[in-house]
Amino acid sequence: PDSLPPEAARLADAVRSGDRRALARAITLIESTRADHRAVADALLAALLPHTGDSVRLGISGVPGVGKSTFIEAFGLHVIGLGHKVAVLAVDPSSQRTGGSILGDKTRMVELSRDPAAFIRPSPAGATLGGVARRTREAMLVCEAAGFDVILVETVGVGQSETAVADMVDLFMLLLLPAGGDELQGIKKGIVELADLVVVNKADGDLTATARHTVADYRHALALLRHGDWLVPVLSCSAVRKAGIDAIWQTIGEHRALTTGNGQRDARRAEQARAWLWSEIRETLIDRFRAHPAVRADLARLEAEVTAGTVLPAVAAHALLARFLGPARGSGGA
Ligand code: GDP
Repeated sequence: PDSLPPEAARLADAVRSGDRRALARAITLIESTRADHRAVADALLAALLPHTGDSVRLGISGVPGVGKSTFIEAFGLHVIGLGHKVAVLAVDPSSQRTGGSILGDKTRMVELSRDPAAFIRPSPAGATLGGVARRTREAMLVCEAAGFDVILVETVGVGQSETAVADMVDLFMLLLLPAGGDELQGIKKGIVELADLVVVNKADGDLTATARHTVADYRHALALLRHGDWLVPVLSCSAVRKAGIDAIWQTIGEHRALTTGNGQRDARRAEQARAWLWSEIRETLIDRFRAHPAVRADLARLEAEVTAGTVLPAVAAHALLARFLGPARGSGGA
Protein backbone atom coordinates (compact mmCIF):
# COMPACT_ATOMS: atom_id res chain seq x y z
CA PRO A 1 0.00 0.00 0.00
CA ASP A 2 0.94 3.66 -0.44
CA SER A 3 2.63 5.43 2.46
CA LEU A 4 0.22 7.27 4.71
CA PRO A 5 -0.52 10.95 3.87
CA PRO A 6 0.76 13.07 6.82
CA GLU A 7 -2.73 14.47 7.41
CA ALA A 8 -4.17 10.98 7.87
CA ALA A 9 -1.25 9.89 10.08
CA ARG A 10 -1.69 12.88 12.40
CA LEU A 11 -5.43 12.36 12.63
CA ALA A 12 -5.01 8.64 13.29
CA ASP A 13 -2.64 9.38 16.19
CA ALA A 14 -4.99 11.98 17.63
CA VAL A 15 -7.99 9.62 17.39
CA ARG A 16 -6.07 6.85 19.12
CA SER A 17 -4.96 9.18 21.91
CA GLY A 18 -8.62 9.78 22.76
CA ASP A 19 -8.86 13.34 21.42
CA ARG A 20 -12.64 13.82 20.98
CA ARG A 21 -12.34 16.71 18.53
CA ALA A 22 -10.11 14.52 16.38
CA LEU A 23 -12.70 11.74 16.59
CA ALA A 24 -15.47 14.11 15.46
CA ARG A 25 -13.22 15.46 12.69
CA ALA A 26 -12.37 11.94 11.51
CA ILE A 27 -16.05 11.07 11.22
CA THR A 28 -16.78 14.32 9.36
CA LEU A 29 -13.99 13.41 6.95
CA ILE A 30 -15.50 9.96 6.43
CA GLU A 31 -18.91 11.48 5.73
CA SER A 32 -17.57 13.90 3.13
CA THR A 33 -18.40 13.17 -0.50
CA ARG A 34 -15.37 15.04 -1.86
CA ALA A 35 -12.94 12.76 -3.68
CA ASP A 36 -9.83 14.28 -2.02
CA HIS A 37 -11.42 13.82 1.44
CA ARG A 38 -12.30 10.25 0.53
CA ALA A 39 -8.68 9.48 -0.26
CA VAL A 40 -7.56 10.78 3.16
CA ALA A 41 -10.46 8.95 4.85
CA ASP A 42 -9.44 5.66 3.23
CA ALA A 43 -5.86 6.17 4.42
CA LEU A 44 -7.07 7.05 7.92
CA LEU A 45 -9.25 3.93 8.11
CA ALA A 46 -6.40 1.76 6.89
CA ALA A 47 -4.16 3.18 9.64
CA LEU A 48 -6.82 2.62 12.30
CA LEU A 49 -7.91 -0.85 11.16
CA PRO A 50 -5.41 -2.79 13.35
CA HIS A 51 -6.91 -1.04 16.40
CA THR A 52 -10.54 -1.92 15.66
CA GLY A 53 -12.81 -4.86 16.34
CA ASP A 54 -12.42 -4.96 20.10
CA SER A 55 -15.90 -3.80 21.06
CA VAL A 56 -19.40 -5.06 21.63
CA ARG A 57 -21.33 -3.95 18.54
CA LEU A 58 -25.03 -3.59 19.30
CA GLY A 59 -27.90 -2.59 17.03
CA ILE A 60 -31.10 -1.14 18.48
CA SER A 61 -34.34 -0.69 16.60
CA GLY A 62 -37.98 -0.08 17.33
CA VAL A 63 -40.88 2.03 16.10
CA PRO A 64 -40.91 5.77 16.93
CA GLY A 65 -42.12 6.25 20.49
CA VAL A 66 -41.05 2.81 21.76
CA GLY A 67 -38.43 4.51 23.91
CA LYS A 68 -35.18 4.06 22.00
CA SER A 69 -33.51 7.27 23.13
CA THR A 70 -34.75 6.84 26.71
CA PHE A 71 -33.43 3.28 26.67
CA ILE A 72 -30.06 4.23 25.16
CA GLU A 73 -29.61 6.92 27.79
CA ALA A 74 -30.38 4.48 30.67
CA PHE A 75 -28.41 1.62 29.12
CA GLY A 76 -25.45 3.81 28.17
CA LEU A 77 -25.16 5.30 31.66
CA HIS A 78 -25.44 1.81 33.17
CA VAL A 79 -22.57 0.35 31.17
CA ILE A 80 -20.47 3.49 31.67
CA GLY A 81 -21.01 2.88 35.39
CA LEU A 82 -19.43 -0.53 34.86
CA GLY A 83 -16.33 1.13 33.38
CA HIS A 84 -17.10 0.99 29.67
CA LYS A 85 -16.96 3.73 27.03
CA VAL A 86 -20.07 4.02 24.87
CA ALA A 87 -20.47 5.38 21.35
CA VAL A 88 -23.95 5.94 19.92
CA LEU A 89 -24.29 6.06 16.14
CA ALA A 90 -27.39 6.11 13.98
CA VAL A 91 -28.65 4.90 10.62
CA ASP A 92 -31.60 6.91 9.38
CA PRO A 93 -31.78 7.58 5.65
CA SER A 94 -35.14 9.34 6.07
CA SER A 95 -34.12 11.94 8.66
CA GLN A 96 -33.12 14.70 6.27
CA ARG A 97 -36.14 14.21 4.07
CA THR A 98 -38.85 14.06 6.72
CA GLY A 99 -37.16 16.44 9.15
CA GLY A 100 -38.52 14.10 11.82
CA SER A 101 -36.86 13.11 15.06
CA ILE A 102 -33.16 12.84 14.40
CA LEU A 103 -31.70 9.60 15.66
CA GLY A 104 -28.66 10.08 17.80
CA ASP A 105 -29.73 13.64 18.53
CA LYS A 106 -28.02 14.76 21.72
CA THR A 107 -31.06 16.63 23.02
CA ARG A 108 -32.79 13.26 23.28
CA MET A 109 -30.06 11.85 25.55
CA VAL A 110 -29.09 14.81 27.68
CA GLU A 111 -27.30 13.08 30.53
CA LEU A 112 -25.47 10.59 28.33
CA SER A 113 -24.33 13.28 25.90
CA ARG A 114 -22.66 15.16 28.78
CA ASP A 115 -20.78 12.11 30.00
CA PRO A 116 -17.10 12.12 29.05
CA ALA A 117 -17.27 8.33 28.55
CA ALA A 118 -19.95 8.71 25.87
CA PHE A 119 -19.78 9.85 22.27
CA ILE A 120 -23.00 10.48 20.33
CA ARG A 121 -23.18 11.08 16.62
CA PRO A 122 -26.38 11.58 14.61
CA SER A 123 -27.14 9.80 11.36
CA PRO A 124 -25.01 11.05 8.45
CA ALA A 125 -26.77 12.78 5.60
CA GLY A 126 -26.89 10.62 2.53
CA ALA A 127 -29.25 10.02 -0.31
CA THR A 128 -29.30 6.24 -0.10
CA LEU A 129 -29.47 3.77 2.74
CA GLY A 130 -26.32 2.18 1.33
CA GLY A 131 -24.52 5.52 1.57
CA VAL A 132 -25.66 6.15 5.14
CA ALA A 133 -24.84 2.59 6.25
CA ARG A 134 -21.34 2.61 4.81
CA ARG A 135 -20.49 5.84 6.68
CA THR A 136 -21.88 4.47 9.93
CA ARG A 137 -19.85 1.27 9.58
CA GLU A 138 -16.71 3.33 9.14
CA ALA A 139 -17.61 5.62 12.05
CA MET A 140 -17.94 2.49 14.17
CA LEU A 141 -14.36 1.51 13.34
CA VAL A 142 -13.06 4.99 14.19
CA CYS A 143 -14.89 4.89 17.55
CA GLU A 144 -13.34 1.52 18.31
CA ALA A 145 -9.87 2.84 17.52
CA ALA A 146 -10.62 5.75 19.88
CA GLY A 147 -11.19 3.28 22.71
CA PHE A 148 -14.98 2.96 22.77
CA ASP A 149 -15.76 -0.63 23.67
CA VAL A 150 -19.55 -0.57 23.47
CA ILE A 151 -20.99 0.68 20.17
CA LEU A 152 -24.73 1.24 19.87
CA VAL A 153 -26.16 1.69 16.39
CA GLU A 154 -29.68 3.04 16.53
CA THR A 155 -32.21 2.82 13.75
CA VAL A 156 -35.92 3.27 13.29
CA GLY A 157 -38.41 0.86 11.80
CA VAL A 158 -38.56 2.26 8.30
CA GLY A 159 -38.05 -1.06 6.54
CA GLN A 160 -34.62 -1.77 5.10
CA SER A 161 -32.57 0.12 7.65
CA GLU A 162 -32.96 -2.63 10.27
CA THR A 163 -31.35 -5.11 7.90
CA ALA A 164 -28.50 -2.69 7.23
CA VAL A 165 -27.90 -2.32 10.98
CA ALA A 166 -28.26 -6.05 11.76
CA ASP A 167 -25.60 -6.53 9.07
CA MET A 168 -23.04 -4.37 10.89
CA VAL A 169 -23.42 -5.48 14.52
CA ASP A 170 -22.79 -8.55 16.69
CA LEU A 171 -26.21 -8.42 18.32
CA PHE A 172 -29.39 -6.84 17.02
CA MET A 173 -31.88 -5.81 19.67
CA LEU A 174 -35.52 -5.01 18.96
CA LEU A 175 -37.50 -2.87 21.39
CA LEU A 176 -41.23 -3.54 21.57
CA LEU A 177 -44.18 -1.80 23.16
CA PRO A 178 -46.45 -3.49 25.67
CA ALA A 179 -49.16 -4.18 23.10
CA GLY A 180 -50.48 -6.81 20.70
CA GLY A 181 -48.60 -8.54 17.89
CA ASP A 182 -46.26 -7.17 15.23
CA GLU A 183 -48.94 -5.56 13.11
CA LEU A 184 -50.57 -3.74 16.01
CA GLN A 185 -47.15 -2.41 16.96
CA GLY A 186 -46.40 -1.24 13.43
CA ILE A 187 -43.49 -3.64 12.98
CA LYS A 188 -42.66 -4.55 9.41
CA LYS A 189 -42.74 -8.20 8.39
CA GLY A 190 -39.50 -10.08 8.89
CA ILE A 191 -37.99 -7.55 11.32
CA VAL A 192 -38.62 -9.61 14.46
CA GLU A 193 -36.76 -12.53 12.87
CA LEU A 194 -33.65 -10.33 12.58
CA ALA A 195 -33.51 -9.87 16.35
CA ASP A 196 -30.97 -11.61 18.56
CA LEU A 197 -32.68 -10.10 21.60
CA VAL A 198 -36.24 -8.84 22.04
CA VAL A 199 -37.02 -6.35 24.82
CA VAL A 200 -40.48 -5.13 25.83
CA ASN A 201 -40.01 -1.57 27.12
CA LYS A 202 -42.37 0.48 29.34
CA ALA A 203 -42.95 -2.42 31.74
CA ASP A 204 -44.05 -0.02 34.48
CA GLY A 205 -47.16 1.56 36.03
CA ASP A 206 -50.40 0.81 34.23
CA LEU A 207 -48.52 -1.03 31.49
CA THR A 208 -46.92 -3.64 33.79
CA ALA A 209 -49.52 -6.38 33.20
CA THR A 210 -49.73 -5.73 29.46
CA ALA A 211 -45.94 -5.90 29.25
CA ARG A 212 -45.98 -9.27 31.01
CA HIS A 213 -48.53 -10.60 28.48
CA THR A 214 -46.50 -9.22 25.58
CA VAL A 215 -43.36 -10.95 26.88
CA ALA A 216 -45.28 -14.25 27.18
CA ASP A 217 -46.77 -13.87 23.68
CA TYR A 218 -43.39 -13.20 22.09
CA ARG A 219 -41.69 -15.98 24.05
CA HIS A 220 -44.29 -18.31 22.64
CA ALA A 221 -44.01 -16.93 19.10
CA LEU A 222 -40.20 -16.96 19.11
CA ALA A 223 -39.70 -20.26 20.94
CA LEU A 224 -38.13 -21.77 17.85
CA LEU A 225 -36.20 -18.70 16.70
CA ARG A 226 -32.47 -19.25 17.01
CA HIS A 227 -29.42 -17.77 15.39
CA GLY A 228 -26.80 -20.51 15.36
CA ASP A 229 -26.70 -21.89 18.89
CA TRP A 230 -28.35 -18.78 20.34
CA LEU A 231 -32.01 -18.96 21.36
CA VAL A 232 -33.52 -15.49 21.08
CA PRO A 233 -34.53 -14.30 24.57
CA VAL A 234 -37.49 -12.01 25.30
CA LEU A 235 -36.97 -9.64 28.24
CA SER A 236 -38.72 -6.59 29.61
CA CYS A 237 -37.52 -3.30 31.05
CA SER A 238 -38.57 0.18 32.04
CA ALA A 239 -36.19 2.66 30.48
CA VAL A 240 -37.64 5.61 32.44
CA ARG A 241 -37.30 3.79 35.76
CA LYS A 242 -33.98 2.25 34.74
CA ALA A 243 -35.34 -1.19 35.68
CA GLY A 244 -34.31 -4.40 33.92
CA ILE A 245 -31.29 -2.76 32.30
CA ASP A 246 -28.71 -4.89 34.09
CA ALA A 247 -30.43 -8.16 33.03
CA ILE A 248 -30.24 -6.96 29.43
CA TRP A 249 -26.53 -6.18 29.74
CA GLN A 250 -25.96 -9.62 31.29
CA THR A 251 -27.83 -11.32 28.45
CA ILE A 252 -25.67 -9.41 25.97
CA GLY A 253 -22.65 -10.76 27.87
CA GLU A 254 -23.99 -14.33 27.56
CA HIS A 255 -24.47 -13.84 23.82
CA ARG A 256 -20.92 -12.54 23.51
CA ALA A 257 -19.48 -15.44 25.53
CA LEU A 258 -21.38 -18.01 23.46
CA THR A 259 -20.63 -16.49 20.06
CA THR A 260 -16.96 -15.73 20.69
CA GLY A 261 -16.54 -19.23 22.15
CA ASN A 262 -18.10 -21.10 19.23
CA GLY A 263 -16.68 -18.87 16.49
CA GLN A 264 -20.07 -17.47 15.42
CA ARG A 265 -19.14 -13.88 16.12
CA ASP A 266 -16.04 -14.01 13.95
CA ALA A 267 -17.97 -15.86 11.24
CA ARG A 268 -20.67 -13.19 11.34
CA ARG A 269 -18.10 -10.40 11.14
CA ALA A 270 -16.32 -12.14 8.27
CA GLU A 271 -19.58 -12.47 6.34
CA GLN A 272 -20.37 -8.81 7.10
CA ALA A 273 -16.96 -7.76 5.76
CA ARG A 274 -17.59 -9.69 2.55
CA ALA A 275 -21.05 -8.11 2.13
CA TRP A 276 -19.51 -4.70 2.88
CA LEU A 277 -16.97 -5.20 0.09
CA TRP A 278 -19.74 -5.87 -2.40
CA SER A 279 -21.94 -3.03 -1.25
CA GLU A 280 -18.92 -0.69 -1.50
CA ILE A 281 -18.34 -1.88 -5.06
CA ARG A 282 -22.03 -1.46 -5.88
CA GLU A 283 -22.30 2.01 -4.34
CA THR A 284 -19.10 3.23 -5.97
CA LEU A 285 -20.09 1.91 -9.38
CA ILE A 286 -23.50 3.55 -9.17
CA ASP A 287 -21.97 6.86 -8.04
CA ARG A 288 -19.55 6.77 -10.97
CA PHE A 289 -22.33 5.74 -13.34
CA ARG A 290 -24.57 8.65 -12.32
CA ALA A 291 -21.66 11.09 -12.55
CA HIS A 292 -20.55 9.93 -16.01
CA PRO A 293 -21.12 12.80 -18.53
CA ALA A 294 -22.59 10.61 -21.27
CA VAL A 295 -24.96 8.97 -18.80
CA ARG A 296 -25.99 12.26 -17.22
CA ALA A 297 -26.85 13.72 -20.60
CA ASP A 298 -29.64 11.19 -21.16
CA LEU A 299 -30.51 9.78 -17.74
CA ALA A 300 -33.47 12.06 -17.00
CA ARG A 301 -34.97 11.66 -20.46
CA LEU A 302 -34.66 7.86 -20.46
CA GLU A 303 -36.01 7.65 -16.92
CA ALA A 304 -39.05 9.70 -18.01
CA GLU A 305 -39.59 7.48 -21.03
CA VAL A 306 -39.38 4.35 -18.89
CA THR A 307 -41.90 5.70 -16.38
CA ALA A 308 -44.16 6.78 -19.27
CA GLY A 309 -43.99 3.25 -20.62
CA THR A 310 -42.60 4.22 -24.03
CA VAL A 311 -39.20 2.56 -23.51
CA LEU A 312 -38.55 -0.79 -21.85
CA PRO A 313 -36.47 -0.58 -18.63
CA ALA A 314 -33.97 -3.14 -19.92
CA VAL A 315 -33.50 -1.25 -23.19
CA ALA A 316 -32.89 2.03 -21.36
CA ALA A 317 -30.52 0.36 -18.88
CA HIS A 318 -28.48 -1.22 -21.64
CA ALA A 319 -28.33 2.03 -23.61
CA LEU A 320 -27.05 3.91 -20.55
CA LEU A 321 -24.62 1.15 -19.59
CA ALA A 322 -23.23 1.12 -23.13
CA ARG A 323 -22.47 4.82 -22.70
CA PHE A 324 -20.81 4.22 -19.33
CA LEU A 325 -18.74 1.26 -20.49
CA GLY A 326 -18.33 2.31 -24.13
CA PRO A 327 -15.62 4.20 -26.04
CA ALA A 328 -15.94 7.36 -23.88
CA ARG A 329 -14.47 5.29 -21.04
CA GLY A 330 -11.52 7.59 -19.98
CA SER A 331 -12.94 9.15 -16.77
CA GLY A 332 -14.38 5.92 -15.43
CA GLY A 333 -11.26 3.79 -15.96
CA ALA A 334 -9.17 2.55 -13.08
P1 GDP B 1 -38.05 6.84 20.59
O1 GDP B 1 -38.86 7.62 19.60
O2 GDP B 1 -38.14 5.36 20.33
O3 GDP B 1 -36.64 7.32 20.74
O4 GDP B 1 -38.77 7.02 22.02
P2 GDP B 1 -38.43 8.04 23.21
O5 GDP B 1 -37.26 7.56 23.98
O6 GDP B 1 -38.38 9.42 22.68
O7 GDP B 1 -39.72 7.84 24.13
C1 GDP B 1 -41.03 8.08 23.64
C2 GDP B 1 -41.94 8.34 24.82
O8 GDP B 1 -42.07 7.16 25.62
C3 GDP B 1 -41.44 9.44 25.73
O9 GDP B 1 -42.54 10.20 26.18
C4 GDP B 1 -40.81 8.67 26.87
O10 GDP B 1 -40.83 9.40 28.09
C5 GDP B 1 -41.69 7.44 26.95
N1 GDP B 1 -40.98 6.29 27.52
C6 GDP B 1 -39.75 5.85 27.14
N2 GDP B 1 -39.40 4.78 27.91
C7 GDP B 1 -40.42 4.55 28.76
C8 GDP B 1 -40.65 3.59 29.80
O11 GDP B 1 -39.84 2.75 30.12
N3 GDP B 1 -41.85 3.68 30.44
C9 GDP B 1 -42.79 4.61 30.15
N4 GDP B 1 -43.92 4.59 30.82
N5 GDP B 1 -42.59 5.53 29.19
C10 GDP B 1 -41.43 5.51 28.51
